[in-house]
Amino acid sequence: MPSTKYIFVTGGVTSSLGKGIIAASLAKLIQARGHSVTIQKFDPYINVDPGTLNPYEHGECYVTDDGAETDLDLGHYERFLNSPTSQGNNVTTGRIYYDVITKERRGEFLGKTVQVVPHITDEIKDCIYKLGKTGNYDVVITEIGGCVGDIESLPFIEAVRQARFELGPQNVVSIHLTLIPYLNAAGELKTKPTQHSVKQLLEAGIQPDILVCRSEHHLPSDLRRKIALFCNVPVNCVIEARDASTIYDVPLLMRKEKLDERVLTKLKISHKKEPNLDQWKDFLRRLKTPTSEVSITVVGKYVELQDAYKSISESFIHAGAENECKTRVTWLSSEDVTAENCEKLFSEVDGILVAPGFGERGIEGKIEAVRYARENKIPFFGICLGMQCATIEFARNVLKLKGANSTEMNPKSKYPVIDMMEDQKSITDKGGTMRLGAYDCHLTKGTKAFSTYGHVNISERHRHRYEFNNKYLKDFEEAGMIASGVNPETGLVEIVELKDHPWFVGSQFHPELKSTVLNPHPLFVRFIKAALASKKEKINS
Ligand code: GLN
Repeated sequence: MPSTKYIFVTGGVTSSLGKGIIAASLAKLIQARGHSVTIQKFDPYINVDPGTLNPYEHGECYVTDDGAETDLDLGHYERFLNSPTSQGNNVTTGRIYYDVITKERRGEFLGKTVQVVPHITDEIKDCIYKLGKTGNYDVVITEIGGCVGDIESLPFIEAVRQARFELGPQNVVSIHLTLIPYLNAAGELKTKPTQHSVKQLLEAGIQPDILVCRSEHHLPSDLRRKIALFCNVPVNCVIEARDASTIYDVPLLMRKEKLDERVLTKLKISHKKEPNLDQWKDFLRRLKTPTSEVSITVVGKYVELQDAYKSISESFIHAGAENECKTRVTWLSSEDVTAENCEKLFSEVDGILVAPGFGERGIEGKIEAVRYARENKIPFFGICLGMQCATIEFARNVLKLKGANSTEMNPKSKYPVIDMMEDQKSITDKGGTMRLGAYDCHLTKGTKAFSTYGHVNISERHRHRYEFNNKYLKDFEEAGMIASGVNPETGLVEIVELKDHPWFVGSQFHPELKSTVLNPHPLFVRFIKAALASKKEKINS
């Protein structure tokens, strides 16, 4: 009998029901009872990973310590569980086929015909079991992206069916997330879409054990009984998932509905002890009863879709709660920023964050936003491309290097203060070839960066091809922009900051990828603190 237990989460009726949040909330509850748990996401698209996707397609690309470019749901998993994920936690159809075809080319199938069943489904099951076999987890939760009935997800659903059979009923739970829409005209909640969705799962050979029903309204008991009867699940396994004011309420809502108890009973895991959610509740208390407020403007290129900056907006929530401060974030398209309108756009804000990004579009607006923050002593935080823009701005306006730029934007710039990393120059493939994942950084004592972290050695996650050009470092430092964090092996600049400014920090890495509910990222916490201080000063002056 396997010692690891497996939970599968599928979705029906429509996408975007929040399978990732339900999976993360359930995982949180199981973890809070003292069990080790991880979550894995299968994405049924052909891209090998989301690294080459435009953020408008699937939102932000989340990067793990081991350098995997993954779906943004992994960010939720880490933020809820406060433990890192890795390459094995996100698998796409493309990755599965890529690996199977690679094996075929190596002759590993010994002349057999390679087919969806069993070869693709076996590969999918291997990815599921691999996490269990590490021995690190009591429970592995696997979320299947998309909806049942999608052509793309068929092999994944079939693999789940087989895994259920192979593992045995006491080791597996299937949770199906559906929608119970409310029809205004009829004044009624409707169960038919859920019935149809469960039928589709049944056709694929999977009887769900638990139904989690998203709804804008309370599900009355007669309606739960009806769903139970038509979908073959015990009535206490029809779980209501009402819309919540914050995603961080969902674990408590699921606890109230006893989702964790139903799951653990089915898996024959003891659940006598209540989950310990003290720290979580303390976070929620601070989040919901702020004693102050700041307004932050994020200048970015993909602002129409907030999922494009998911980890940044969540980091603000964590850091805001830590400061018991409501953080009002305004998202501003960098293309709308000009030298002329900066005063109008930024004079009232308490902090400016210039976001990560790629390519030339909107870059000059970002540089203008940096200039305004620097000259007017507004707390500033630049992340990745944002840090690069801070460098370019300083070069142009303080060092007077006219036309200074990144070679990403102008390969012929006379002053390439941001340049492509040497080992990137020969790379032609776009997928998985950036400087990715966790790298060490050494902080200089006496700097803002050091006082923020409180220690010298840190490790942060990266996703970029260009870097600060060390040829100019001396000039920058003499003029007041210092490198306060550097990679100890390569000397790559990881953090820049201004000496003569209340808070002006740029990081080449992505701190937002490591902020969690229980561990808000110190750079965000200090940025909010600086914004609060700046606001107070404005009021007093
Ligand atoms: N485009 C920049 C680079 O590749 C910054 C990347 C980013 O912001 N993630 O270096």
